[in-house]
Amino acid sequence: MLTSVNPATSQIIATHEEHSPQDVNSIAENTATDQLAWAANNYPHRAGKLGAAAEVLRKRSDEYALMITSEMGKPINQSYAEIEKCARVCEYYAKHAEVFLSNEPVKTEASHSYIAYRPMGVIFAVMPWNFPFWQVFRFAAPALMAGNGILLKHASNVTGSALAIEALFREAGLPGNLFRVLKLPGSKAGDVVGNQHVKGVTITGSVAAGRSIATKAGAMLKKSVLELGGSDPYLILEDADLELAASVCANSRLINSGQSCIAAKRFIVVKPLRKAFEEAFVKEMQNKHMCDPSLQTCDVGPQASIKLRDELHAQVTKSIAMGADCLLGGTIPHKEGAWFPPTVLTNVIQGMPVYDEETFGPVAAVIEAANENDAIRIANDTVFGLGAAVFTKDEKRGQIIAEELLNAGCCFVNAPVQSDPRLPFGGIGDSGYGRELSYAGIREFTNIKTVYVG
Ligand code: NAP
Repeated sequence: MLTSVNPATSQIIATHEEHSPQDVNSIAENTATDQLAWAANNYPHRAGKLGAAAEVLRKRSDEYALMITSEMGKPINQSYAEIEKCARVCEYYAKHAEVFLSNEPVKTEASHSYIAYRPMGVIFAVMPWNFPFWQVFRFAAPALMAGNGILLKHASNVTGSALAIEALFREAGLPGNLFRVLKLPGSKAGDVVGNQHVKGVTITGSVAAGRSIATKAGAMLKKSVLELGGSDPYLILEDADLELAASVCANSRLINSGQSCIAAKRFIVVKPLRKAFEEAFVKEMQNKHMCDPSLQTCDVGPQASIKLRDELHAQVTKSIAMGADCLLGGTIPHKEGAWFPPTVLTNVIQGMPVYDEETFGPVAAVIEAANENDAIRIANDTVFGLGAAVFTKDEKRGQIIAEELLNAGCCFVNAPVQSDPRLPFGGIGDSGYGRELSYAGIREFTNIKTVYVG
């Protein structure tokens, strides 16, 4: 049984029967049948359906935003923004997929030779709860436009959102089995990788889940894309605009109540700026309003579950026990629900959980660096490599640091790390491999085919 619990109140919202292995087989077979018909359609036909999906998203935004907020506690304004972003990614790929996947002539000795991008078939997607709609759409919009079918195993606590997305694609006029939800717990997700109809696998989630799925995909020789965790460093250099840096850092740390893979997590400040940065940053963090996520005034909602909140709290208490100083927050409020306040720890050093591990919640780790080189060294002192940002008034220097010196998939200068349909998104190291979004993302689940006519 899969259970959705409102993390703001600890009330059970719904329970869902799991699919049996027989259900999974028959759903996968039906998806494979619909995928073949879908792949035979031309791009304008598919684009029309994706455009219709964008319309349904906007028409039903109240319903979907409320679903997100009640299932995982996102502040309601951010839930609406998530729905709008999903509509935009549908429109983006409806408009650009044909160009991204058009045949590319290559001059050889042949009379003509070219590269063609053909759909792979049915792709199995394992997704997390933190952006219950966006995580799905950012993979699904390009995969569907490329001509693929999708089996979605969503996080158990957001099964309501998963079923709403399945119904949404049907309402938009996509074939009824082209996009199907598999109601399964994480422990049974790996079994689906071996299904004969599954041709590729994508997972967005923790390192442990990614490693498990990738191991199975490797054993079955199936293509996989992994979007895993991050411990994004934000570097504050000596010539940084302090006001800008403090504000961007606080907003980025607290987006989605801190539960974002690309939220700012480690704040690496050069020594001369440290005290001033801490003062400005703490002020920004304490100005954020933690309250009922269904209120328009909410900046920070609850964590997605009591279990995740308690794991975060343990990272904080252990770091403090090891010598970190707590400048803000740090303790669990006495009220029902999975609440944890904006928290700032300083004097953080290597070996502490908030330095070495991902903190998936509103906890900031301030780390002092002796100078710029030391800041870059600390930034790269991680197993992750998803995003990174650098703050400096010397834009050229910032660009060199971003392009050449920071080990991450998405590097930003004087701006927060964010995803954008026009730019590739993904990481290196324990943050995973493969890319989503942009032309790179839509090509991941295609057969990049050589055609040679002698
Ligand atoms: P999680 O526990 O790995 O859950 C993610 C998904 O994987 C859920 O559908 C979950 O199902 C499933 N799952 C869990 N264990 C599994 C296993 N052994 N085999 C196969 N599937 C399994 O991750 P989370 O804690 O909910 O999500 C937060 C993590 O996701 C963070 O590390 C975050 O950084 C990462 N994330 C990465 C990105 C990115 O784009 N790089 C974006 C968002 C989040 P159940 O819910 O049924 O357990």
